[in-house]
Amino acid sequence: MLFLVTVCMAFAAPSFSVSDTSIVADPIPVKKPKNIVLLIGDGMGLTQISAGLYSNNNHLNLERFPVIGLHKSYAWDDLVTDSAAGATAFASGVKTYNAAIGVDKDTMAVPTLVEILEGRGYKTGIVATCSVTHATPASFFAHAASRRLYEEIATFLPKSGVDIFVGGGKKYFNQRTIDNRNIIAELEAEGYTVNDFDAANLPEISGTSGKKFGFFTADEEPVSLLNGRDYFIPAVEITHQFLTEANENGYFLMIEGSQIDWGGHANESDYIISEMIEFDQVIGKVLDWAEKDGETLVVVTADHETGGYAINPGSTMEKIIPAFTTKSHTAALIPVFAYGPGAELFSGIFENTAIFHKILETLKDGN
Ligand SMILES: [Zn+2]
Repeated sequence: MLFLVTVCMAFAAPSFSVSDTSIVADPIPVKKPKNIVLLIGDGMGLTQISAGLYSNNNHLNLERFPVIGLHKSYAWDDLVTDSAAGATAFASGVKTYNAAIGVDKDTMAVPTLVEILEGRGYKTGIVATCSVTHATPASFFAHAASRRLYEEIATFLPKSGVDIFVGGGKKYFNQRTIDNRNIIAELEAEGYTVNDFDAANLPEISGTSGKKFGFFTADEEPVSLLNGRDYFIPAVEITHQFLTEANENGYFLMIEGSQIDWGGHANESDYIISEMIEFDQVIGKVLDWAEKDGETLVVVTADHETGGYAINPGSTMEKIIPAFTTKSHTAALIPVFAYGPGAELFSGIFENTAIFHKILETLKDGN
């Protein structure tokens, strides 16, 4: 793949001459970002984005991205991926089977971006509007044969190196059925301060470099925005503050807008649109920070589309008339948006696994 890119760029270079062997047609160097933010809108296909945009006065922060690509979302064993295989492709760069969490098609653990970048001294963070043990966040810190092994997935978090996490699923840590372990106590033993997150009573985390934080937002799955969830934007703000404070080495942050997918499964257009617009507000915050610091690569994508969602004839900007082909996921190509140093690598059409490789490519020494 890289070889092909190099060859194509060599032939595209204006100074390239077949007879002039003294010219080495190197690829154009990529500027190396200090920080990486990967935002995943679960189930966010082009129609979800379109409906969110029309319902939001014809604008989204996604319009601010200069680089747009498309990825092929299919899993190793199924043209229609699930969130586990989709997130494992982003986190570890391998095509695997549906339900796999951080393992390849032979159920062998594969290193994740969190593990790789922790090993290079980056701070890491995970924020989700589902439980932290759910498929997408889990694929960044755990290795399990099945996404349904929530309690097993929870046991990976204390030693994961993740510096800050926010999401639901507390019961998988302290009200366990497979054993009597208290994983919250194990997190505390590894240096974490663990709290419940209440947006009305924001936690104080400044001046706490060197510490780790975990915030649970629900015992099970957090509710939808329409049903009162209010922590997503404050959680992202606090996480960003924590990751940038006294941090020379940079950070990797994965943010998931988890419930765009659930609106798709429910075939509820208003659920999709509300979650999409809130996710876009989070994207706007991240873009503001990246524009200000000039050293953060921001990548936004989805694992797959959900619902076979369509905007049918008769719709207006004020009122979308939705239709759905399924209560499951679909296999459509998925948009990728990139901003910041290294963003240019994300144009074109590529496999979902390429997102992992492109992120690491931007961080290569010499960039
Ligand atoms: Zn789903």
